[in-house]
Amino acid sequence: MSTLDEVTGHPVTVPPQPSVLLNPGPVNVHPRVREALAYPDICHREPEVAALMRDVRSKVTSLCGSTTETHSSVLLTGSGTAALEAAFSSIVPREGRILILDNGNYGERLWRIVDVHGIDHVRLEFGWNNPIDLELVEQTLAADPGITHIGMVQHETSTGMINPVRGVGEIAEGLGRSVAVDAISSLGCEQFDMMVDHVDWCIGTANKCLEGLPGISFVCARRGALEALADVPARTLYLDLYGHYVAQEQNDSPLFTPAVQVLYAFDQALDLALEEGVDGRIARYQSLAARLREGIRALDLEFLLPEEHWSNSVTNVHVPEGVSYADLHDELRERGFTIYGVQAQLGEVFRIANMGQVDAQSIEDFLVALGDVLGSLARGEAVA
Ligand SMILES: *Cc1c(COP(=O)(O)O)cnc(C)c1O
Repeated sequence: MSTLDEVTGHPVTVPPQPSVLLNPGPVNVHPRVREALAYPDICHREPEVAALMRDVRSKVTSLCGSTTETHSSVLLTGSGTAALEAAFSSIVPREGRILILDNGNYGERLWRIVDVHGIDHVRLEFGWNNPIDLELVEQTLAADPGITHIGMVQHETSTGMINPVRGVGEIAEGLGRSVAVDAISSLGCEQFDMMVDHVDWCIGTANKCLEGLPGISFVCARRGALEALADVPARTLYLDLYGHYVAQEQNDSPLFTPAVQVLYAFDQALDLALEEGVDGRIARYQSLAARLREGIRALDLEFLLPEEHWSNSVTNVHVPEGVSYADLHDELRERGFTIYGVQAQLGEVFRIANMGQVDAQSIEDFLVALGDVLGSLARGEAVA
């Protein structure tokens, strides 16, 4: 939004009002993360940036459950989808085939990526809100030895469902297939360990439960698997995972200009994540989610999913009869809270994410605001 400066007459952009972000990323960040954006300007080919990238890569690797002895992480500049596209367009060889497990918007996105790159694939659609059927996965793999890879989402953020990564990992391990997991909205706040879960490729992003700012995403894998990509001809130039790996790992310099300031901010966010520990963060998110869900029950609202599938960070709720999502969103935004919609497939549903630097008091305040707004909207009163 732009307006004219009273003194100079020049157009100025008015900053948005601060808001408690209850959308599933980008999240409210810690002041240390924001302050890192203001570091001095620097050229991306200088040694400080090389050191920064090495640090960020090794911290990310450890958050994926591995160590730099066996694994390496490749950083991409772009939102989570950039890292997904880098991974899924790069890891399947010409003679390979990938099985995509799809039970929501992000499973569908994996399918879109392999489809757009003309990669041989099989898509198992379970339907939105339905869990992944491990028996069907096993049967499909057993019946088709040509399937070399499996792609899945750990936390299907569209519905808020946690998918069984370890279950798929164990099946794949037994049948000698490789697993790539979109852990974009789960890494940092759900149990996940590449080694224990038999995951070969892990894809994550800075601005969800790792609590950084948007603009950096990454792929973590075994060094040997990354090196083997030398034999897979690239399908894209900018998102060629192997090209980025060689640049970052062997040449200690980024392939293209990375979002340096966002990387400095991410480095701070990773330090905060490591200081808190994944278990600490899981406990913090779970306690916020528990309070939120208790308050939602007290308002007689209905959840989209049965409790057994709930993640630690996203709660999907049906918009009550007679209320529109748009009004609900706008009225809550007026009061300083940003909620999120859901892809049309699910009907009138809204999402509340307790990701990022949200404190317990904000959840209490939100529940009060939600009760007030729903009451007024249901009575057909003009609110705000
Ligand atoms: C957010 C998200 C993505 C990536 O979305 P971007 O807008 O590209 O950051 C991918 N997968 C899942 C599960 C997500 O939650």
